[in-house]
Amino acid sequence: MKKAAVFLLTSIALQNIGAQSFIQAYKNRADMVTQANINTNLQEFAGFGIKKTGTTANNNALDWLKNKYLSYGYTASDFSEDAFTYGGNPSKNLIITKTGTLYPNQYVIICGHYDTIVGPGVSDNGSGTSIILEAARILKDIPTEYSIKFIHFSGEEQGLVGSNHYVNNVAYQGGTKVLDIKLVLNIDQVGGLIGNNNNTITCERDTGGMSSNNAASNTMTQELMTCTTLYSPLQTNLSYAYSSDYMPFEAKGYTITGFYETILSNNEHTVSDTYANIDPVYVFNVGKAAVGALQHFAVASTTNNLLSTNELQKSGETISIYPNPAKDLVTVEFQQKVKQFKIEVNDMAGNIILNLENQEKINTSGLKNGIYTFTIKTDKGNTTKKIIINK
Ligand SMILES: [Zn+2]
Repeated sequence: MKKAAVFLLTSIALQNIGAQSFIQAYKNRADMVTQANINTNLQEFAGFGIKKTGTTANNNALDWLKNKYLSYGYTASDFSEDAFTYGGNPSKNLIITKTGTLYPNQYVIICGHYDTIVGPGVSDNGSGTSIILEAARILKDIPTEYSIKFIHFSGEEQGLVGSNHYVNNVAYQGGTKVLDIKLVLNIDQVGGLIGNNNNTITCERDTGGMSSNNAASNTMTQELMTCTTLYSPLQTNLSYAYSSDYMPFEAKGYTITGFYETILSNNEHTVSDTYANIDPVYVFNVGKAAVGALQHFAVASTTNNLLSTNELQKSGETISIYPNPAKDLVTVEFQQKVKQFKIEVNDMAGNIILNLENQEKINTSGLKNGIYTFTIKTDKGNTTKKIIINK
């Protein structure tokens, strides 16, 4: 929701690489955003029509979102809903939580609204919605030190009704801060207009409202810009945050940042905000930037999770170690039966926690929550996989 806003404060970003260095594993995952998935998400979103808060179409879009998360392997226990009413009609925000390994009670929020007004809202905000879905799909099994909340707000177009409700009833309860939020990354209207040279994304920092959180927002927005140049082909434009779901968070002192299209389509809140009029490649590229940045802010594992699979394939041996995350039992399964093998389980400090022989079922009930490496040693060599214990 950015209609008719004054858009004056733009400046060329200074390159501020600082301590942020390129991480190959983050790039590999950013590159797992697919154009096909983005296109499908955008078209399915368009198919629900006008998703005005509290309407059947609005509820249908909510159900569609839940089914997407289930298809990625999230379960109902990862979901929560924040219900509110607008004009006497009920609507819901959808929150999916992925638990962090080191700071489970500190959250990085990536959010965008799924309600629309007047038109199907493919840019405003099918674009942000599609990107959040891709980020959740790709990071499902990637350990992150901070917890991540993927939030789809409703009621945005009626004046940030859903995000206001969430901030004042979930993040804060009775005026008391409940949620420790490291950062709110909002994505709203990044569809662009087909035919434009959409090679730049606007990164929005907090410049007003409460002033005590401006400096932190400036730092995080600089980091967002750096991530964008590291993990996507896009250039960046620094601007200011306004009129979207990060603002209720800002008003409570939380640190916010955001993505917004640079060359405006001016199709928002009209019947012309359609799939045919947006630039799907732009959404794809913003998706890469978002997945790169989300890994940076939530401190994702820097281990290339594809590596161990490749090593196994080279040795001609296939070992599955599952589930991941695991609770009280981990299973080791060889494609071809192996009689003699050893299993060493280490914590992240390198201490040996378990040392076993020839056991395909490993009792992990004595392990604390965290990340461990499981190394399987056979006469053909060693295979190591990171397993999260999360009870
Ligand atoms: Zn919007």
